[in-house]
Order: sequence, then C-alpha cells, then structure tokens
Amino acid sequence: MSEQSIYHTHLKEVAKKERLETAFQLAKDSQNTVFYVLPSQMWLQEARNRRPGLLATTFDDVATFLLKESNDSYIALSEEERTLFFLQFMKEEEKINGVDVISGKARAYADTYGQIKRLGLAIEDLPSSLLPIQDLFDRYEQSIVNKRRLLDPENILLRAIHLLETGNVNHLISTVIIDGYYDFSPLQMLFMEALKKANVSIEVYVPNDKRFAIVEETVRELVTIGFTDQRIQSENEKTVEKMEVIAASTTEEQWRGIMEEIALTDLAYNQIGILIVDERQGMTDLAKYASAYHVPMNKAKKRPLSTTAIHSFLLTALGNTLAPTSKWDKLPLVEQILKLYQVSGLEFAKQKQMYLQSGEWIKEQHRTLFEYMTRLNWKKSEPFVTYIEQLRHFVAELPFKQYWEDHFNKQEDPKNIKEIAIEYKALQQIDQQLERYEQLLKEKGLDNLLMTLDLFTDWIKELGDSLQLFEERAAKRGVSVHTWRDVSLFQGEKLYVVGMNEGAFPTPHKLSGYVQERDLHQSAVRFSPPDQEHFRLKQQAYFDQLSFVAKSISFTYVKGIDAHHPLLPSTTLEDIQEREQAWTWEYRIEKQQAHSTADQIEKLAYHVGKGCVVDELPKEIEEITHRLARLEEGKEPITLYQETPLQPVVSVTALESYARCPFRYGMERVLKVPEPAAMQENVSPLDIGDLMHSIIEEIYTELKAVGQSFVLLRDAIAHIPERIDELFDQKWELIEKESPEISRFDLELTKQQWQKRLRHWWQAERKHFFDNIQLEQMHILAIEKPIRFELPLKDERTLVLTGKADRIDRNGQSIVVYDYKSGQASVKMEDVRSGLKLQLPLYAYAIRKELEQGEEDSIQADGATYISLKEPSKRAGNGMWRTEHVGKSSKYNVSSFCKNREDQLGTDQFLADHELQERITEIWEGMQTNFPVEPLECSAFCAYRTVCRVTDEKREQAK
Ligand code: SF4
Repeated sequence: MSEQSIYHTHLKEVAKKERLETAFQLAKDSQNTVFYVLPSQMWLQEARNRRPGLLATTFDDVATFLLKESNDSYIALSEEERTLFFLQFMKEEEKINGVDVISGKARAYADTYGQIKRLGLAIEDLPSSLLPIQDLFDRYEQSIVNKRRLLDPENILLRAIHLLETGNVNHLISTVIIDGYYDFSPLQMLFMEALKKANVSIEVYVPNDKRFAIVEETVRELVTIGFTDQRIQSENEKTVEKMEVIAASTTEEQWRGIMEEIALTDLAYNQIGILIVDERQGMTDLAKYASAYHVPMNKAKKRPLSTTAIHSFLLTALGNTLAPTSKWDKLPLVEQILKLYQVSGLEFAKQKQMYLQSGEWIKEQHRTLFEYMTRLNWKKSEPFVTYIEQLRHFVAELPFKQYWEDHFNKQEDPKNIKEIAIEYKALQQIDQQLERYEQLLKEKGLDNLLMTLDLFTDWIKELGDSLQLFEERAAKRGVSVHTWRDVSLFQGEKLYVVGMNEGAFPTPHKLSGYVQERDLHQSAVRFSPPDQEHFRLKQQAYFDQLSFVAKSISFTYVKGIDAHHPLLPSTTLEDIQEREQAWTWEYRIEKQQAHSTADQIEKLAYHVGKGCVVDELPKEIEEITHRLARLEEGKEPITLYQETPLQPVVSVTALESYARCPFRYGMERVLKVPEPAAMQENVSPLDIGDLMHSIIEEIYTELKAVGQSFVLLRDAIAHIPERIDELFDQKWELIEKESPEISRFDLELTKQQWQKRLRHWWQAERKHFFDNIQLEQMHILAIEKPIRFELPLKDERTLVLTGKADRIDRNGQSIVVYDYKSGQASVKMEDVRSGLKLQLPLYAYAIRKELEQGEEDSIQADGATYISLKEPSKRAGNGMWRTEHVGKSSKYNVSSFCKNREDQLGTDQFLADHELQERITEIWEGMQTNFPVEPLECSAFCAYRTVCRVTDEKREQAK
C-alpha cells in the first residue's frame, strides 16, 4: 500500500544531502523508478551535484517518462511552438466566427488555450465568457493534439494524468519525492492526485515556518486529496542581522554601486550572492558590469543563438523570393554576407558603396554567395519535413563554412577567431536541431505535416531565442546569482536584492490570453487558482524567506534623477531603513579609488573638467582635452587654395550658403564631397522647387504677362487653373520616373499635396495682383531675370555678384522684387546682417541701380518679398517694405505685423545701415580657405552630419 505524506523542511535544507541519499538508496532497492522533483533548474543542478545518479527532475519529466514507458507516441512542443501551431491552425481555418484571422488575435487565442490547460480545465469546462471560442479549441485539439499528436507541456501532463487514471502504469513508478515547493499549479495538483490514485508513494517536503501562509493553503489542499500531514510546526530563527535599502539614480549606477562594493569588501566572492528581481533585463546588465569590474560570477555566460550573424542570415534566406526588389532592399543581405566573411571597416564601406552604385562585388566568393541567395525561392506551403530538408541542404552548401575552417588554422587575431568560432558553433547547433526534428517527424510518421513558410520562419526565429551558446564557464568560487525560486540555495553572508522597485516586486499577476480573474472563480478549477491573492501570498513567502538565507541583505532600487518625481522602492521595504548616501554618478566619480584603468581615466577626466590641476595626466586625457579644445574652436582651414587668388565673381546664393554653415559649404561646393547615398524616401525638395518655378514661369510666359498691366490681363486668365493642372500633370510624370524607390502611395500623396498648393498659389496671385484694384496699373517687368552687378567693397575692391530674380513688378517709378519659395519663408533683418538672407535686398539694390542707370531717372524699391508656396497669401514677416506700404492702407496688402520697414531698400544707404559690404567681404574671403564648424543654421537633415564635429553647444547657438 502506498503512502502520500507531507513533511516539513527548513528552507536551507531543501534537497539536503541525507534526503537525496535516502532517495537514491530507495531507487537502488526498488524495481521501479524513484523521482526527486524540484522547483527550478538551479535546484536540479544542485541536487545532481550532491547525489549523482539520482533522477532529479521536474513534474514535466515525470509525465514524459510515463508517456514514453506507455509507448504513447507524440512530438513535444514548447509553449512558443504551440503558439506557432495555433497560428497555423487558425490560418488553415481561414475564418473564425466570420472574422479574418489576424496574427495578433490568433496569438491571444493560443495564449488563452495555454492558460486554460494550465488551470487543468477541459474544453467543455470553459468559463462562460470564453464559450464563443469553445468550438475553435475543440477543433484545435482534434486536429493538432489528437490527430497530429503534437503535445505542449500542459497536454503532456494531461495525457499522463489520463494514462494514470485509465491505464496500468502504476508499476512504473514507486515513489515521487517533491521538495522545496511553496505551492502547486492546479495542473500539478491534478497530476499528484492521479499519481496517488495509481498507488504511487509520494513524499512532499514543504518549508516549515508557520509564517508562510501560502504553504498552509498548499497543505490544506493536499490533505483534501488524501495526503497525511506529518509536519512538526515550528518557528525558525531568522539568520538575517542587517537589512538596508539603497537608492540609485540610474540602473547603471545601481549595478556599478554593487560591483564597487563587492570589489572593496573583505568577504570572499562565494560569500556574496545577487538576487535579480527582473530576470530578463537584469541578467544582461549583471554580465556586463561583472565583466567591467572583473568580478567572477558563479554562473556560466551564455547568449541566445538569435544574436549571431548566421541566424539573421538564415532568416534573410527564408525571406527571399524571386519578386523584384530594389538595391536598397537587398542591402541588408550584402551587409550580412560581408559580416559572415569578416569584412569590416573601409573594405566593408567600399563594397556597400560599389554595390549601390553598380551592383558589382569586389570579391568573387562574396558575389557567388549573393547570387546563390537571390536565386532562392521557397514555396508558400510545404510539409514541415520538406522545409527542414531544404534548409539543411542550403546550410550544407554554404561556402563560407570552408572559409571559417581555413581561418581557424591561421593564427590570426584571436578576437576574429572567437567570432568565427561562435558563428560556426551556432550553425552546427542549428543544423543539429534541424536534424533532430527531421528524424522525429519521420519517426512519428508526420512526414505530411503541412506548414506555411511564415510559420516555418517564425519557428526558426523561436529556435534562435531558445538555443543558447555557451561563452564562458562559471567561476566555482564566484558570486552566486539567484532568482526568487532558488535563493534559499545561497550559502554565503551577504545578499544583494537588485531592482526592488515598486511595481517590479511584488508584480501584479496577469493571466494569459483572454482569461480574466473572475473566470477563475466562475469555472471548474479544482485547486487554488492563480488569482491575485494567491500570488500576493506567494510573493510574500518569497520575500519572507530572505530572512533565513543571509546575514546581511541590501535591497537596491532605482530612484531616477527627477527629484520631484522619484521612483519608489517596493512597498515590502517600508520598514527597512534607507542608506543615507544614494548611489549617484557624482558620488561615484568623486571617490578616491579607481577599479580599472577606464574608471581611473573617467574620474581624472571629471576632475580636469572641473578645473582641477592633475599631475602626470594620462596620455588619453591629454588627447581628449586637446580634442575638446579643437571642437570648441571649430576652426577648419584648408591650405590647398591658399596661393590661388580670390575669385572676384560670386553668386549671392553661395554667400548665403557659406553664411549658413561654412563647413557644409566647404564640403559641398569646394571639396565637392558627394552626399552619402541613401534610399530615396521623399521627392527631393530641389526637384519640387524646380517644378514649381518652371510651372510659374510657363504660366506667365504663355500669358505674355511681361509688360502688360494686371487689369489688361484680367480677361485672359480665366483658364489658368485648368492650365496649371495640365502643366502639373505633365511635369509630375518626370518626377515619378526619376523616383523609382518611392512608393506609389507616397508619390500620389505628395502629388495631391503640391497640386493643391499650386491652386492656392494661383488664388493668392489673383487676390494680390490681378483682382487688386490698387495695383491695376502695375505689371510684371521681368521673370527669371539674371542679375550681375558690381558691389564696391569698403577696401576699394569690387566684387561681382550674380544671381537670378524670380520676378520683378513695376508701376511707374516703383519696383517690387518677388522670390518664390517651395518651403516656408521668413526674413528678419538680423538674418540680412548676418548674411543668411541676402537675395531680396541685393536684388532690389541691383535692379534699382540698373534701371536708374538705363533710364537716368530715379527708381524706388517699394518692397522685396518671398512668396512661399505653403503660405502664398502671406505678406508680413516674409519680406521687407517701405513704411508707407505696411498696414491697413497698403496697396500690396502687407500686414501691419510686418516689422521689416525699410525706407532705404535698394539704396547704398541700406547697404551701409546694415553693414552689408563688411559682412560680404568677410564671407567672400573665407569662402576659399576657411571652413569653420560655426553654423548659423544647422539642419537636422544635413547630409554631412556624420563627418561633422559640431558640438551640441554650437548646434544650440545656431538656429
Ligand atoms: S551638421 Fe550642422 S554644422 Fe555640421 S555641416 Fe551640417 S549644417 Fe554644418
């Protein structure tokens, strides 16, 4: 007769040696199997070390054993694989309840199914809120679970329960010893109940302190299914002597603070433990900072296979189709090939550039692989086995494997060899995994199990996340790393509990998929459901156990850097004193000691920056100081043209461009460095500008507008809106032809936008000119008028300035200069003085002078303004006008908001008032040899950003 009993254990005696030994002896003496079940991988590893040969396992392993021994044939699916198959199943079904399947929704259904199974519920027991998807789950079970025999972990347990309840399997297992659990899931409880019914002896060891309320609940449930409570209740003495809370300003300072304390403590490394609250991010941070401070960890360093280049390459290969794609779409593949062949630096950049320019390759072997890849074509749907075979064939043919093997033998840079070795190992692991699945599918007769290419690709992605590459051994006497599940394994004195922020611990419990908390209480879940209260008790027990595992515990949390809105510590830490000194950057950097050369340099640099005098400054800091000074200075002289005399002819736009940013001007116009190639995402603003100018010019040329007063043209302009549309359509065709990389949709959107703007422009032209009674006698004097004039400079020299005025209007002795802009346009007089906006005043000056000389009569510039195609009606801050033309009575409709009232516009006095000759001389002299990084305007889209050393301060000073 078998017995099922509950015993107590001290937390620190979970999986204790004597108990393991007894279990081992029992297994030796018994004809049947004895299992020792523990709650986490770390516990299992420890138990196997303490008593080799003992079957230390999980509940899932016991269930797997039962299925195997009963010859129950199946293929095991991980939780993630279950989601993938669920997705595929739903895609096969095409429509669920009349709704098109979208993957997000299918994923939620898959999660719901998993959650239901974890609750130990059958499909017919679904809570009422989930009844609409009962039919879907039914069909999934019939098709995937029953027919194809693909079993996820929950279905393996359920199948084992079924076998125990119906079959004659009790002779297979004699005893199951379960140690170290605080609670069990409903499914695990069902499994234990089935084991009991099948006459298997079960011993459950639970932590014995009566303060663990969750344990009492667990014991109560076990008793209801027939277990005998053999515990002796006690209240254990706490080990902890000191607890404190430490705030850190950032996550980085939190980790640095811990590592620095560990580095300075007298305790041996193996006396220190770290419990990571947020396992996902925390493990990565721990590895990074432990390595930076050379603190050894008693944990092997691993990385997921999905971080390797070969894994990304395989995913790219699976994504290849024969559909035509642009060179930009293929660029990631080019990069991957180069990475796999270890091409880097200049050679890497050169090859990319060559590919973008001509599609050519420098090395034949790279080209061969690229062409092989672009010929790949995968069917949208195939049997799973076929996809695996095809991918394995593809892997076997990959030419760079030979290249890698050759490089192992050449004693080259160890870093390169290490990288190749990792890629090589990753490829081998993937191939082994594929081979294993291929065999499994064939053995189980699932050769015809269909898959879609999308699903297969997702499966490979998931494989990359689940397979791990071993990078570094655990240091036996290093700092131990724990989670809440295994922290009682800690044997040392000092424990750091990292990331104890409010919200991080205790964490609110979330059920998967569409299952809600109320469903737990309305459904037929038999054992304690995983509701909020259950998790609160469990997390409380996790927290309380700490008092029994270490003498000194430091809880750290991140407070943030906003003093008014600090992040808070976990509510469980309320009664624990917070250390006065928080870990902050300032606190760390002011410390006397350095932990590494990098740390020393950082600290010295900080003090030098503060103005301290440091003896024997390291070379690195001297260099940095020198570089900073150079950045600050921003000088960028070019000696190349120093002997060449200054060119006496210069365009006004070149002057403006130099004033905007001398460095950019030097790159663009002097050294003629082409902009880096980039995928065209939008129609070029230059092309748009040219298009708009050419349409405006053609409209007025066709109209023969030059020389005719606006009133005379009134009858001839009725057809202009249609003509604008016609011209726009014709010219837009060319833009489309020259923009093959922009999507049709984006092109259409841009087209509509500019068509609309052009129509608005025409409405504004009518309002300001043709329908304006005050300007009836005014006329267009010239369109696209070339400008060339001599500007006397202060030092007796003369500079010839050139340009082109978009339009000049004249009425009697008055002229107005207009300049069309496709973007926003505004002008301030300080921009004129700085040289940023020279066209309007200089064109007004040149034209006025030219007319006066030709006619020997005085001419007056009433105004000069931009007309922005985005705001064509605007006449305010976008121009400069004589005072009499600003305000309510302005015949030019200039708003009274216009601040640029310039009564000397177009005259020598204007140039003198704004010191333009001096500024132009300065600009002109710099344009040949001096290109400082001193922008007046620094564009966020500047193509030279990547090579420009502009500092944040200079960028802020600019516009
Ligand atoms: S990033 Fe700014 S400072 Fe540098 S070249 Fe471009 S515009 Fe000039």
